[in-house]
Amino acid sequence: MKENEVSGWLREVEHPAKGDRNIVDLGMVEKIEAGEGSVTVTLAFSKHRDPLAEYLIGSAKAAIIRNAPEGTKVEIRTIIKDEAPKKKPGLDLGDEELTNVRHIIGIASGKGGVGKSTVSVNLAVSLARLGYKVGLADADVYGPSVPKMTATEGLMPDAIQEGEKEVILPMEKYGVKWMSIGYFAKPEQALIWRGPMACNALKQMILQVRWEELDFLLIDMPPGTGDIHISLVHDIPMEGAVIVSTPQDVALADVEKGVNMFRNESVNKPIFGLVENMAWFTPAEHPDERYYLFGKDGGVRMAEKYGIPLLGQIPIVQSIREGGDCGEPAALSTRPDGLAFVALAEKLAQTLK
Ligand code: ADP
Repeated sequence: MKENEVSGWLREVEHPAKGDRNIVDLGMVEKIEAGEGSVTVTLAFSKHRDPLAEYLIGSAKAAIIRNAPEGTKVEIRTIIKDEAPKKKPGLDLGDEELTNVRHIIGIASGKGGVGKSTVSVNLAVSLARLGYKVGLADADVYGPSVPKMTATEGLMPDAIQEGEKEVILPMEKYGVKWMSIGYFAKPEQALIWRGPMACNALKQMILQVRWEELDFLLIDMPPGTGDIHISLVHDIPMEGAVIVSTPQDVALADVEKGVNMFRNESVNKPIFGLVENMAWFTPAEHPDERYYLFGKDGGVRMAEKYGIPLLGQIPIVQSIREGGDCGEPAALSTRPDGLAFVALAEKLAQTLK
């Protein structure tokens, strides 16, 4: 491998907050050491904390892995320019951006596909409808859905200088402040979000955002239970969690894992409630009929078993799915499905008073 070859690969890494100019042209690649079977790249960041530092480190690594012969050892080092002693950027995050947030709530699910993101987005919109100041951080690295569900896809949040550091400004729509890892990750770079670097990038994208004063910050967590969850709960000062499930047995078995994770000694966070999503199906033309496609009251029984309040039951309704697909959340409407989310929001707000 030649150094200029590696430099060519690094040109694939664009800085989303700098007009998509690549890191080589931006002068951020300080040094490339390419040998047989190994590459070490040193990236230089300015003394101001770059809110996308972790994202760029991950993307640089991914670009080399994509292009280099299989098995190449890749190391990315970082330096801060014009500052001594040298230190790694982005890792000295405080949580000062969150000091004006009253309640930080994780929205979790035992497995994917149960409607966790749908519930998170609609809950956020409903809380805003009730007059609360709300933010939602989409931390679902496996499938960030906030950009699509709010029709803000393709938009790029601005970064601004604030004193000694840069902060990201959240998107604002439907009365809610939105931030999503999906605004920054391009599909071909998805691989970096699988690794441990996902944790650092996620934290930065929650902690280095100018949320300002909020009553509620909802964190749409990745599905399942794993290292990312434990790390998120440790690093973000979450007050507790809400768990979303369908009434189906298999989903409920996964809920059990989720409950155990939050109640585990090392995490030890309260669970404020369970949301039973897809509780029944009601055809639009027969509003009084209910069909229990995934079983009846599974969520109710689970809530009883674990002593968790049941915050609400949300039916399967075509308009909820359509609202997600076209970026206009159902909770904006005055239809029964919209009001079901508002009732959920009311219950959560009461629980936390
Ligand atoms: P998760 O975040 O748990 O993976 P999503 O929120 O992405 O799940 O939902 C999965 C799919 O199910 C989406 O297409 C969504 O529109 C649909 N969906 C979720 N909840 C409902 C509901 N109550 N009624 C109809 N469709 C729903």
